[in-house]
Amino acid sequence: MTSAKNRRLALVTGAGRGIGRVIALTLAGRGFSVAVNYHNSATAAEELCGELAASGVDAKAFRADVSRAEDVASLFRAVEDSMGAVQVLVNNAGITRDNLLMRMKTEEWNDVVAANLNSVFYCTKEAIRGMVRARWGRIVSIASVVGLVGNAGQANYSATKAGIIGFTKSVAREYAARGITANVVAPGFIETDMTGILKENVRAAMLGQIPAGRMGSPEDVAGAVAFFASDESEYLTGQVLAVDGGMTMC
Ligand code: NAD
Repeated sequence: MTSAKNRRLALVTGAGRGIGRVIALTLAGRGFSVAVNYHNSATAAEELCGELAASGVDAKAFRADVSRAEDVASLFRAVEDSMGAVQVLVNNAGITRDNLLMRMKTEEWNDVVAANLNSVFYCTKEAIRGMVRARWGRIVSIASVVGLVGNAGQANYSATKAGIIGFTKSVAREYAARGITANVVAPGFIETDMTGILKENVRAAMLGQIPAGRMGSPEDVAGAVAFFASDESEYLTGQVLAVDGGMTMC
């Protein structure tokens, strides 16, 4: 096993549960130390770090609301002080506040923009300086296929996920010559708490649109993230990889 000292450090936002948790576990399994960001549930994040530490991985939990610039600045200082510079940033934290446009409250728009898009700007800006210094870095942001094709009832969420794609392509262009890649993983319909709240008829309709005939798992998404985090993907930047069982193919 790579010694703790030689492991690269990955910071995963919103890693207390769902896809982020599995991304943290997968990156740890591929030889990374992991900084686990969580917002509300310290218990889940501490349990995850305990599980990783038991298998010899350097993992620590850090509380921060990544929709707030001050929290993100403190998060990076705390991670750097106790674990070192972030070499892989996974922008995973996200929320939904679904509503039809005519009923969508300004608060529902602003909350989703802050949590899903502003967070990506704050975290990437904090991470990029150290990556430039190291002349190596990986930024992987979790968007969604609805950022590519839209979805009724999710104008706010779709706009943020499309925004992540435009942001990533610009960052990719700015830093490609410095050994830093920026890519997007766009999941389709993945089995987590976020989709667990959907009504049965909505789930059935979604399943009917997936050629693979099943919902995705967090592991399906984490595998794509691990690829973008690796040395093998060195010549790929500004890409959007849809992990959706063939749902969109665009
Ligand atoms: P989830 O609700 O299970 O997990 C989201 C995590 O983000 C939670 O741990 C939550 O605490 C954290 N979070 C939210 N706001 C935060 C904030 N301000 N600061 C810090 N952490 C915050 O959802 P999930 O399905 O695991 O989603 C993970 C990512 O994948 C999200 O970006 C989501 O938009 C995206 N995604 C999910 C699906 C799906 O089908 N589940 C599909 C496409 C994209």
